[in-house]
Amino acid sequence: LSEKLDKALHVLKGHGSITEVNVAETLKEVRRALLDADVNFKIAKEFTNTVKEKALGQNVLTSLQPGQLMIKLVKDELTKLMGGDAEGINLSGNPSIVLMSGLQGSGKTTFSGKLANYLKNKKTKKPLLVACDVYRPAAIDQLHIVGEQIDVEVFSDKANNDPVSIAKAAIAHAKSNGFNVVIVDTAGRLAVDEVMMTEISNIHKAIQPQETLFVVDSMTGQDAVNTAKAFNDILNFDGVILTKLDGDTRGGAALSIKSVVNKPIKFIGTGEKMDAIDVFYPSRMADRILGMGDVVSLVERAQEQFDEQEARKLQKKIAKNQFGFDDFLKQIQQIKKMGNMKDLVGMIPGAGKMMKDVDIDDDAFKGIEAIIHSMTLKERTNPSIIDASRKKRIGKGSGTSVQEVNQLLKQFNQMSKMMKMMQGGKGRAMMQAMKN
Ligand code: GDP
Ligand code: MG
Repeated sequence: LSEKLDKALHVLKGHGSITEVNVAETLKEVRRALLDADVNFKIAKEFTNTVKEKALGQNVLTSLQPGQLMIKLVKDELTKLMGGDAEGINLSGNPSIVLMSGLQGSGKTTFSGKLANYLKNKKTKKPLLVACDVYRPAAIDQLHIVGEQIDVEVFSDKANNDPVSIAKAAIAHAKSNGFNVVIVDTAGRLAVDEVMMTEISNIHKAIQPQETLFVVDSMTGQDAVNTAKAFNDILNFDGVILTKLDGDTRGGAALSIKSVVNKPIKFIGTGEKMDAIDVFYPSRMADRILGMGDVVSLVERAQEQFDEQEARKLQKKIAKNQFGFDDFLKQIQQIKKMGNMKDLVGMIPGAGKMMKDVDIDDDAFKGIEAIIHSMTLKERTNPSIIDASRKKRIGKGSGTSVQEVNQLLKQFNQMSKMMKMMQGGKGRAMMQAMKN
């Protein structure tokens, strides 16, 4: 049993030391994750500063589970920054006009098809695709191929090289043929230049779309932000489409773009096929940017099980020196409820390394629980009354030896002391005490 006790205490020790280190460590990890995901350096810095302030404001350090709280804070803040709830597109016109803008190769033509398909499947929408990329005949053919694939009509005019008049003619065609959504695909260039900007601005003015979308390749990283800004200055667009998120890009562009132009990201493209379109969910994007899918499930589990009220009561008891074996038992059960300890600890960023030499198994608590269960209520609330004869009785009742009971009492005293120190906010002293 003493081996098991050792393990159990190791768990508690580990828990405590993660506590201190984790706040700073988590922030460091977060900043690294943001930079890795192509988030602009300044934005990443601002973001971690905001989180740090919030963490201090919420007394993360003195909470019982600072690691989880930190992660939750980071995720919530990131989600908030990227736009809260998912926003749809405005289809209030009749017909509703949707204009695509963006650089060449960003995925405008592909997304035009995806959106048409997405709307068509909603039954109440009858979309028309319009080919306004007049520079390359192949571009018009490409849209026709897309249209065939999804069975949506494509309006084009190879003899006309004025995109404004094509778009106008298409809208007239839509009106007289019962189309209620007109999706206008335009030409882009490889980089922002005046010719492209003038052209898209002229189309925009002429057709007055309900929805102007800026399409951007998520793999272009930092450049995506500059491009977004240039297009937004001219068009004041309504939303962003982030394409090519099926690759291994972490999608930090989403956060940067949102911070710079403050427009919602509405859809994401996740492949070349027509059904590879998804509504943008900020919280999923936050996971992706942080690369912490596992961590989120940890947070959720922790939240489910973590009873704030209990924690506060416990803190009061510790402060008044009333922490007893019943509370100890509750703590153990709390930890156990959260699932397999090793999994749990492994999910906390930075903690895996620290814990690798600690072998945790869930059985470690069984002996402890048996001993506590064999104590009377009086003994549990006031362990100091446990004398030799009581120890003997407890040992017998729990199927352990007096030695093991002694061991637990000793550990318990250490833990009470440790908690007392934690309560006083003497984190450093606490860690020191635990190391000894
Ligand atoms: P446009 O020049 O803006 O019209 O861009 P296109 O729609 O022609 O797309 C350029 C290339 O990117 C094509 O090869 C597309 O198949 C590809 N593409 C577009 N969207 C996605 C996406 O979400 N994922 C992947 N993997 N490829 C995409
Ligand atoms: Mg195109």
